[in-house]
Amino acid sequence: MKFRLLTPGPTPVPEETLLELAKPVFFHRSSEFRQLLAEVHQDLQAVFMTKNPILPLTSSGTGALEAALVNCVPPGRKIICLIAGRFGERWRSIAKAFGLESVNITVPYGQAVQPEQLQKALADHPDAVAVCSTLSETSTGVGHDIKAFSHLIARTPAIHIVDAISGLGPIECRTDQWNIDIVCTGSQKALMMPPGLAFLSVSDKAWRVIENNSTPRTFYFDLKKARKSLETNDTPYTPAHTLIRALRVSLKRILAEGMENIWKRQARYAAGARAGFKGLGLEIFANPPNNALTVVKAPPGIDSSDLLGRLEKHYGLKLANGQDTLKGKIIRLAHMGYIDWFDILAAIAGVELALHDLGHPVDIGKGVAAAQTEYAKS
Ligand SMILES: *Cc1c(COP(=O)(O)O)cnc(C)c1O
Repeated sequence: MKFRLLTPGPTPVPEETLLELAKPVFFHRSSEFRQLLAEVHQDLQAVFMTKNPILPLTSSGTGALEAALVNCVPPGRKIICLIAGRFGERWRSIAKAFGLESVNITVPYGQAVQPEQLQKALADHPDAVAVCSTLSETSTGVGHDIKAFSHLIARTPAIHIVDAISGLGPIECRTDQWNIDIVCTGSQKALMMPPGLAFLSVSDKAWRVIENNSTPRTFYFDLKKARKSLETNDTPYTPAHTLIRALRVSLKRILAEGMENIWKRQARYAAGARAGFKGLGLEIFANPPNNALTVVKAPPGIDSSDLLGRLEKHYGLKLANGQDTLKGKIIRLAHMGYIDWFDILAAIAGVELALHDLGHPVDIGKGVAAAQTEYAKS
């Protein structure tokens, strides 16, 4: 049986990138590494659509979120957290861990925070240092209007910090044009890489905020130190340089297609996936859904844990369950990074069969037909 990894992190890695990881380890304090980092940095700027420096961190994506908050916001100061799911909640948890005051704008799982809610929060809390949002809320499949958020925040002294860990790549995100101050991402989502690297871009406005924070509560994640090293294409501590060497190859693949083309292709995949699941009689969980992943509700009487277990064991299809209170209630199909249309079709076909196996009434082929019909239209 062929195994297909279709979870929203980690995601599959292209063969040519995997081959880079098989090469011998080289020395990191070398001109070879500095040339590599310079090239990767330039390519990352094209992916982020920014001229801002992008700091590489050796951590999972959450390291970038933590680095952003601790460097920008002194203890006791206030941030606004826009919370539509588990990853929005993570902003609140990091704030709590570092003694920051968080004003939480929370919506039920499956829905998105509206720009009007942010507008009110900004008016009520003019002393907020930062607003923390999530481009793609991976726990529910919801997308946020980051452009509208940034437009509101740019008129205030606050900075906008975006968790784009699963959103950067599949979803339009124009860092400079939209005035996003800090964009955070990780390697194992749409960048077609294994876990282990995180990145964040930092605007001039955010650097001023960082420079005003005289006591960042961090040693390893000191962004001023990281910026100083980056000026000579280096890192303060040992980088995961073999991963960076592999990332170079994945970035070439991404940029050969081009960001705008990727967004269009992802929109087509997402529309096809949604049509397929609806054709099967399943309900889309997210409103509005984003184009990085599709999240659907398990049908009444079916525990999604049973469905997902069957998909993996009998059909080699690994999709993700809901987290925490959504566990057993939803299934999450990623279609970001190195996942193509035929992987998506396989997932829909597998869900048809697994539901049938579990005794749920399905017209075999109806989901696949609906997906194909939608895909053929565009
Ligand atoms: C995956 C993900 C994270 C967590 O990243 P880690 O790499 O597990 O630390 C955070 N936010 C979002 C939106 C994600 O999709």
